[in-house]
Amino acid sequence: MDAQNNEYQMHLRAVINESIATNRDILNTAYRHIEKPVMIIGFCLSVLCFFTGLTAGSSWNYSSPESWSRKYPACGGRRQSPINIDTSEAESTWLLERFTKSLFSEEPENMTLKNNGHSIQVDLTGGFVIDNMRLLFDRYKAVQFHVHWAKSNGKGSEHTINDKRYWGELHIVLYNTDYEDFESAVSKSDGLAVLAFFIYGDFSFKNSGFDKITEEISDGNAKYEGESVEISPFAIDDLLQYTFLKSYYRYLGSLTTPPCYESVTWTVFEDPIYISRSQARVFEEIVYENERGHHHEHLYNNYRPVQPLNGRTVYTIDSSRLYNFDYDD
Ligand SMILES: [Zn+2]
Repeated sequence: MDAQNNEYQMHLRAVINESIATNRDILNTAYRHIEKPVMIIGFCLSVLCFFTGLTAGSSWNYSSPESWSRKYPACGGRRQSPINIDTSEAESTWLLERFTKSLFSEEPENMTLKNNGHSIQVDLTGGFVIDNMRLLFDRYKAVQFHVHWAKSNGKGSEHTINDKRYWGELHIVLYNTDYEDFESAVSKSDGLAVLAFFIYGDFSFKNSGFDKITEEISDGNAKYEGESVEISPFAIDDLLQYTFLKSYYRYLGSLTTPPCYESVTWTVFEDPIYISRSQARVFEEIVYENERGHHHEHLYNNYRPVQPLNGRTVYTIDSSRLYNFDYDD
């Protein structure tokens, strides 16, 4: 067990170190070509623009994701996300343990729902914490979650599983508290963890947790880019009705949007979140990618195509662990 643990840790660390070296090369190249102050301002803006929703005049979109790497070199790296998960190739390990819903049952202090022009996002203060568990070696704190979705009952998830694409995907973003804050962590190879859930968008029942988001949007809040509203805090657990947490996949990847930093330890759950068709339609039909009063384009199909695995290993929880029945789930 210990030997296996060490081996796995060494493997992950080796991948992480390789990625640090790659990131450093990319940054060094960028520094050589651009004046340092401009680079620093550009860096700050790109991070701020994407992560705080100040996306007016955003310089990237989903119509040509293959061109992102021209402006954001990391997007052309070898540890990119999303990926297709081939379940027959996933390497099972005893070292991954089940997640339980109690992890998600804590209510954050504040929640702000916003439209950042690329997604519907909920910023959290006082988000839940994952403390050195499930092979996430440090302490990670949740800071936001957001959604990727399709157009009219199509396929809009970012990851695919055995080439199957779901209607949508929820990303819960956490940062490594070894770093001072999210902004300091976002470009570090072990800086972020994302918990991803596929979304099935044609379920017979409403997901009452998701209503807390869709009702706000239906009321006209966060409908246009740059708009936001404080909402009553709720536990993320509320979104996970009908969802089993038992099986998931783990790999090292990147942000799926520019600047595509290779900083994310991904956890992709096998069982989707279920929402009703009417809830899915709120995303498909009411959300716009532009500011209020401008030429209005619906926001949908906000997913990046799958990226090459480039030899990375996708790990999965050992099947014998799945049957340790857990009343918490
Ligand atoms: Zn995302």
